[in-house]
Amino acid sequence: MIDLESERRIKTKMAEEVVSRNFIEQEIDKDLTEGKYDTVVTRFPPEPNGYLHIGHAKSILLNSGIAKKYNGKFNMRFDDTNPTKEKDEFVEAIKRDVAWLGADWEDRLFFASNYFDKMYEAALKLIRDGKAYVCDLNAEQIREYRGTLTEPGKESPYRNRSVEENLDLFERMKNGEFPDGSKVLRAKIDMASPNINMRDPILYRIAHLTHQNTGDKWCIYPMYDFAHPLEDAFEGITHSLCTLEFEDHRPLYNWVVENVGFAHPPRQIEFAKLYLTNVVTGKRYIKKLVEEGIVDGWDDPRLVSVAALRRRGYTPESIRKFVELGGISKANSSTDLAMLEYCIRDDLKTKVPRMMAVLDPIKLVIDNYPEDMTEEFEAVNNPENEELGTRTITFSRELYIERDDFMEEPPKKYFRLFPGNEVRLMQAYFVKCVSYEKDENGNVTVVHCTYDPASRGGNSPDGRKVKGTIHWVDARTAQKVECRLYNSLIDEEKGVYNEDGTMNINPDSLEIKENCYVEPALMEAKAYESFQFVRNGFFTADCNLSKPGQPVFGRVVSLKSSFKLPKQNG
Ligand code: ATP
Ligand code: MG
Repeated sequence: MIDLESERRIKTKMAEEVVSRNFIEQEIDKDLTEGKYDTVVTRFPPEPNGYLHIGHAKSILLNSGIAKKYNGKFNMRFDDTNPTKEKDEFVEAIKRDVAWLGADWEDRLFFASNYFDKMYEAALKLIRDGKAYVCDLNAEQIREYRGTLTEPGKESPYRNRSVEENLDLFERMKNGEFPDGSKVLRAKIDMASPNINMRDPILYRIAHLTHQNTGDKWCIYPMYDFAHPLEDAFEGITHSLCTLEFEDHRPLYNWVVENVGFAHPPRQIEFAKLYLTNVVTGKRYIKKLVEEGIVDGWDDPRLVSVAALRRRGYTPESIRKFVELGGISKANSSTDLAMLEYCIRDDLKTKVPRMMAVLDPIKLVIDNYPEDMTEEFEAVNNPENEELGTRTITFSRELYIERDDFMEEPPKKYFRLFPGNEVRLMQAYFVKCVSYEKDENGNVTVVHCTYDPASRGGNSPDGRKVKGTIHWVDARTAQKVECRLYNSLIDEEKGVYNEDGTMNINPDSLEIKENCYVEPALMEAKAYESFQFVRNGFFTADCNLSKPGQPVFGRVVSLKSSFKLPKQNG
């Protein structure tokens, strides 16, 4: 379990989050005070080329959270300017994930591709103002002319084309007169700029591609650095929050919105991406795992895509708490997955019933218990939450217990069942081990006990103490189910990535236990419904694998953690 000191620091930190403001909010406060803006409009701008992951969740909660805090607006915008990789399947999945996380875009759903006409107009304006030109250099030449970090670039021989010629050529680019890659439209900024992004960046390229929204209307497509600031400006975004790798692009962002001439241009502010140690977070890499069949889809519970976390049994509340705990920062760092696990444990602890399930069963026979008798016990569903009520569990002569709750020859400090030892069967009776049976391979098959009828309810009849309490299910009523345990997808000794772009995969990340026994009430579990299986962890009925009346349970997280909140966060 998490230690008390960490728990205290987490609580203090959460309380501070409420009153203190992160650096983005401080900037917004300043802008509002100075009258730069009189409202706050943010957006989440995913490219529909994959599913969202935990890093995107941070961006979603940050952007929608800020809009809410300032009584502003939050736009959901698909940045669908790149027709090759984008798919409608991803649009639907992303909408579902954003809504599930609780970010409400109301009626503010936008597609960048709907702005293609306006973007084209913006490009024409730049050409007319002498600030953009059509360039015939090929990709390789453009790269050569660009210079390096230490050397300035060279001007393109096409840089001084007349406005009329540029207008004519750009129109013909649009009309499909030129093949892909033969011409581009470039901004005319400064080939000697110390910032390479400012050395006449490409604004438009020719690509004869069918777009999922605009079909074959366009064969020229705007580049990200031109399209993104325009999208923000068209929508009246005030604060365009993006990740640190765009810091060097900010001068270009500003150049675009200033030179296209917006009265109230948006302001870009960068923050650090969320990374998880030894976890695959990049969209590109998750995609690779899916395409190579290493996982069974974008929502494989071993991934940290939002769909996978939902399937695994994470709640929006737990993800929000995780993002809040991590805070917003200007410096890249990597967070421990244990913190995410802490958040879901903490969320489910009081929300879900605690039931008994035996994952690796062996039989326990109570020799002195009448053969035809069945008893019922009233079990409290969650001692920390009375509202969850009670349920009835049955008890009879034959039970299942966990294989590792019995040992023939126990080591020191083993307090569970071994010959001669007495333990408590949770909620039921004290039992004492009298003998056991083995098969021809030496595996224990049956443990024999006697019970003390006076210990009914698991209470000591005469003040004598037992050190171990174990869980069980009644063999007469228990039902067989499949449970799945998940381990890290990554071989943590080696780290996630190799230099050649491959990943170090742990071959044992999925453990399937087909012969688990659970209380019969669990057979009614619905997809996404979660439970605590006492001593074994939190489990959720898998939404893809469960059938009505026959659930498959996947472990969300075990009950124990070695997680300690790092000092500097507290
Ligand atoms: P990836 O880096 O996983 O390939 P991406 O940046 O290509 O993701 P987009 O669809 O372009 O994916 O991202 C949408 C928004 O989410 C962007 O504003 C981006 O900055 C933000 N975002 C992406 N990854 C993270 C992350 N790890 N942490 C915080 N925000 C992120
Ligand atoms: Mg991107």
